[in-house]
Amino acid sequence: MNEHQTCELPRASRGQLPDIRVSFEFFPPKTVAMEAMLWESINRLAPLGPSFMSVTYGAGGSTRERTHNTVARLAREGMVRPAAHLTCVGASRAEIDAIVQGYWDAGVRHVVALRGDPAAGLGAAFEPHPQGYKSSCDLVAGVRRIGDFEVSVSAYPERHPESVSIEADVAFLRAKQEAGATRAITQFFFENEIYLRFVERARAAGVTIPIVPGIMPMQNFKQTAGFARKAGASVPGWLADRFDGLDDDVDTRRLIAATVAAEQVLGLVDHGVRDFHFYTNNRADLVYAICRLLGLRPKGEQQKAA
Ligand code: FAD
Repeated sequence: MNEHQTCELPRASRGQLPDIRVSFEFFPPKTVAMEAMLWESINRLAPLGPSFMSVTYGAGGSTRERTHNTVARLAREGMVRPAAHLTCVGASRAEIDAIVQGYWDAGVRHVVALRGDPAAGLGAAFEPHPQGYKSSCDLVAGVRRIGDFEVSVSAYPERHPESVSIEADVAFLRAKQEAGATRAITQFFFENEIYLRFVERARAAGVTIPIVPGIMPMQNFKQTAGFARKAGASVPGWLADRFDGLDDDVDTRRLIAATVAAEQVLGLVDHGVRDFHFYTNNRADLVYAICRLLGLRPKGEQQKAA
């Protein structure tokens, strides 16, 4: 029996839960049907009172308009604080500055600043735009020059695929903090130990900003495992075993996905983690259930209970 096969539940699954803060990530919709699903999910999750909801920016800036429209609508509707992801890829500084200024003017005060994947695809060397921001640090500093934004950045507990070592990633995270980043959000991971060790190393190296774990509820195991391979996130054997043989059994897969993510977040709560960022894949149901397990309730319900 290994450590993952014990029957012990996380302590946080019993008794009084501490105050937990959550945030949710979405991607900009491509079609009318996807847009309807996105807003249904946003409307279901917003009453949980997340710290913010963020909208990703497609590779190479391919969703510039759609990201902007989704973030601007979130800002207009005023239900939650929106955050706009932005990368350095495929645009000059002047173009990126105009996008950031547009967000400021639309009332958006939070940018998730990333370098982005190389325009030639994963595995190719990153070539900055000749007049562009050269790195995520550079972009963080640029965003902070334009306005007093909250700036989140990425962190890679298992090493970014292009990085030479975890130490290099930690040093780079520290440099992003020095450039003005106010929060890091991690790439997803499935072994809590990996995250906890990374946070320990980052703290020892002088990183003081919050390092919020990115949680990926597995809507589709095979798809997520493929994405994890590219992103440098490991998929442990015990996790693959849990989904083994369920390719045609969506209902059981979803129950297992909810259980796995619930165990993960409650395990992190046991280790003192209070902030969670969920990769929603634009679907509310799993994330909503996990948030309830974390003790979050829709605003109306809290009032009824009070
Ligand atoms: P960085 O932090 O800039 O770099 C990653 C690592 O590479 C560093 O830790 C360092 O080890 C090494 N490195 C990079 N540049 C240098 C340098 N100049 N000198 C030394 N070492 C260096 N992609 C999108 O296209 N759109 C999104 O909306 C998006 N959102 C994301 C959100 C989160 C929370 C995360 C974790 C990732 C997201 N990504 C997104 C993916 C990201 O763009 C890719 O992983 C990209 O390859 C790296 O960009 P970065 O800002 O994460 O990396």
